[in-house]
Amino acid sequence: MSGKRIYLSSPTMHGEEQAFVKEAFDTNWVAPLGPNVNQFEKELADHVGIGHAAALSAGTAAIHLALRILGIGKGDVVFVPSLTFSATCNPVVYENATPVFIDSEEDTWNMSPQALEKAFEKYPHAKAVIVVHLYGTCARLDEITEICKRHKVTLIEDAAESLGSTYKGKYTGTFGKIGIYSFNGNKIITTSGGGMLVSEDEEITKKATFLATQARDPARHYQHSQIGYNYRMSNVTAGIGRGQLLHLEEHKKLKKAIYAGYREAFQDIEEIRLNPLNPDGDDNCWLTCMTIREGCEVTPDQVMDALEAENIETRPIWKPMHLQPVFEQCDFVTGEGFWSDLPTGQTIKSVSGDIFARGLCLPSDIKNTKEDMEKIIGIVRGVFGR
Ligand SMILES: *Cc1c(COP(=O)(O)O)cnc(C)c1O
Repeated sequence: MSGKRIYLSSPTMHGEEQAFVKEAFDTNWVAPLGPNVNQFEKELADHVGIGHAAALSAGTAAIHLALRILGIGKGDVVFVPSLTFSATCNPVVYENATPVFIDSEEDTWNMSPQALEKAFEKYPHAKAVIVVHLYGTCARLDEITEICKRHKVTLIEDAAESLGSTYKGKYTGTFGKIGIYSFNGNKIITTSGGGMLVSEDEEITKKATFLATQARDPARHYQHSQIGYNYRMSNVTAGIGRGQLLHLEEHKKLKKAIYAGYREAFQDIEEIRLNPLNPDGDDNCWLTCMTIREGCEVTPDQVMDALEAENIETRPIWKPMHLQPVFEQCDFVTGEGFWSDLPTGQTIKSVSGDIFARGLCLPSDIKNTKEDMEKIIGIVRGVFGR
């Protein structure tokens, strides 16, 4: 091992964050409410161009409240992409609803519109679709919103990884009935931990705030007619968020430069392909990923091991949900030309499984220097004998 560690994606602070946090301390607003919370909601909603926002303790909490507010409950089918982080679908199970996993398409790695159509044939009474913009690349929003409209099903947008990405000029997170963002430690901007639920409908964000603060009825005594949660964001962490939001577009520019740097560096190696960007989008390039061409002898583990040996952090591609032990009873729907016979355990040919098997996430930390990038690139090229 040598030198300082090179990270996958670590927090990048600028100074304004501490000023907002100091203000919270100076005014003793050290609570899960206060001026930073209200301002962070307003500033984020203004930035992405949506009417209303509710600041929460986590992106997962935001997805959970989205489902609660939409009345998703026992036995309801919710379509979720298989290739995602488990936080997208865990809340479906919290509400005793049934996730049905949808395969990816090769062009964006996101939910395949074709597989989604097939899923509606099989489950015409599905209640909601959660779309994810994986690694910051926009899903096929035109097709997916059209399919949802035609089937009169609500779209929830998990934009946890894609804050700052735009599709045809409009920010991801603002296409669904409800959108969610995450400010976890390695996201494009962070509050150490936190999330946001956004909507054009103020009733929805008001309901989210109500449920996030233990669902207290408007009475002096503590009265409850619904089950509530302790999901509100702290005024201290909201201060970090306000400072970070000032730098979102700058972070995006730097993330895009990292992607462009890798693309340039590997363009002569035909065994390597980077994760796709959406030609209809301006993606935030949260993480740059690569896949290794089928038939090539190099494995993702070899690339990750070679980098780790030099103290460089990488990460596998998210393991698809249809391959997770905890979801083995759940159905999985693929597009044409692929097949799936879950949940019985036969061989499954899927786009998401293939990306997982051949891919990895490259270090995408915006603090990495030119020398760091050269080091990473040199090691990866070496694994491919270049
Ligand atoms: C990070 C992430 C979440 C969860 O957000 P938290 O703030 O960590 O709860 C949800 N979905 C996806 C796709 C994520 O990457």
